[in-house]
Amino acid sequence: MRSKLYINGVWVDGSGTMPVYDPSNGSLITEVATAGEVETEAAIAAAYEAFTPWAKTAPRVRAEILRKAFEIMIAEADELATLVSRENGKVFSDAKAEITYAAEFFRWFAEEAVRISGDFRKSPSGDKRILVTHQPIGVSLLITPWNYPAAMATRKIGPALAAGCTVVLKPASETPLTAMAIVDILERAGVPKGVVNLILPTPVGASISKMLHDPRIKNLSFTGSTEVGRVLLHEAADRVIRCSMELGGNAPFVVFDDADIPAAVQGLMIAKMRNGGSACTAANRIYLQRAIAEAFTVEFTQAMEALVMGPGMESGVNLGPSVSVKERDKIAALVDSAVSGGAKVRTGGKVPEGDGAFYPATVLTCEVDNVILKNEIFGPVAPIVIFDTDAEGIAFANETDFGLISYIFSKDLKRALQAAEGIESGMVAINRGVVSDPAAPFGGMKQSGLGREGGFDGIHEFLETKYIGVEI
Ligand code: NAP
Repeated sequence: MRSKLYINGVWVDGSGTMPVYDPSNGSLITEVATAGEVETEAAIAAAYEAFTPWAKTAPRVRAEILRKAFEIMIAEADELATLVSRENGKVFSDAKAEITYAAEFFRWFAEEAVRISGDFRKSPSGDKRILVTHQPIGVSLLITPWNYPAAMATRKIGPALAAGCTVVLKPASETPLTAMAIVDILERAGVPKGVVNLILPTPVGASISKMLHDPRIKNLSFTGSTEVGRVLLHEAADRVIRCSMELGGNAPFVVFDDADIPAAVQGLMIAKMRNGGSACTAANRIYLQRAIAEAFTVEFTQAMEALVMGPGMESGVNLGPSVSVKERDKIAALVDSAVSGGAKVRTGGKVPEGDGAFYPATVLTCEVDNVILKNEIFGPVAPIVIFDTDAEGIAFANETDFGLISYIFSKDLKRALQAAEGIESGMVAINRGVVSDPAAPFGGMKQSGLGREGGFDGIHEFLETKYIGVEI
């Protein structure tokens, strides 16, 4: 297991260490190296040095390294998933699904590396030719969260390397081991020294602020909370650094009265409970049309009660712990304030006795103004609200500052598409509990972010567009 920093092609000790815990029982997994000023400077310098030669490599060379990394990840998926489950807490099947999803970003961007298109045309005035080309931005700072420690790293590293950028990766403190394992794979796949660097700078706020004021850093790709994203946007403004922001969600899950109820319940179990509810895409507010609300709630509550909670690596378990007791306590506090505000508990709602950061599958019914609907829960809690007309359902769904993803269930595709067009989110799932796909643009509207990852758009987050006007 790697536990050091990776700078200029070498695994190095840092200025200190920090612990990584197993959230299912609070035990120490290992200590990892942290970066002080010396290591942070060395990582930036290495990425800066490596940029020009890397940008000049043939796209096919970059593609083949990424393809090789994809193959190693798939071959080692079980070991990687075990590591994800240990440090993050998610159940093994979710961890394995994450590794497959994460590896796909390497495959997809291996394919995209050789398809960066340009444009050559006559200007409307006829006096020149318009040549449009795309060039790698330069050294990119990648900051990732704990909830998808593998996929959030590959979703950034894949397009960055494909575009010809070099990177400094800063994974979340709770889950650095997975990122280290992925960097180890990239090293074995043939990434040249300096192209990928991994550091855990401390203290994080001051160190990242300093990095964003360093003229060698040209681009910031951040995935995490809106709160931290907003701070980083302010920091990046000083040097007008390009920013991609994948921020928090507060996804509505809207079920119309003509929906296939068993399919919608199944969809909600995926949308709500994948990753134990700690997903930016997690269904956070459940809106049910009055005619089907009670039948749906009964069926959904039964499905939630059937889940087995326990350590993520134990067989038969389908709900693991949160990543830490601190995160679990945030979930418990939100449920308590929802109940104080009039929400009724249909199941769950109590922190269990014993060790580990566990919180049970919880179903609440509440009014549309309940405080829990304003917050990203990031845990296994489903607050349900009833609506009457379609227009009211959409209006409720849009009552948020966030706009990452929405879910709509209806057998009438026209009705569902009309709702999808009226909903303010970057992604909409119709009759599905999951839409994430490396081949599709992932990202949000409103305060859920800026830019898109994956799909054809993802590589452009790491490319500058250059127009050359040619006299003819
Ligand atoms: P977070 O607290 O914002 O942390 C994210 C990353 O930012 C971590 O690496 C963290 O480092 C770092 N960080 C924290 N404070 C910082 C600062 N002042 N300056 C620079 N970096 C700082 O988020 P999280 O709790 O890890 O993740 C959960 C959030 O991520 C949720 O809101 C979720 O919706 C969002 N998310 C969004 C997407 C998406 O694609 N839109 C995907 C996944 C998650 P430390 O760990 O060292 O504090």
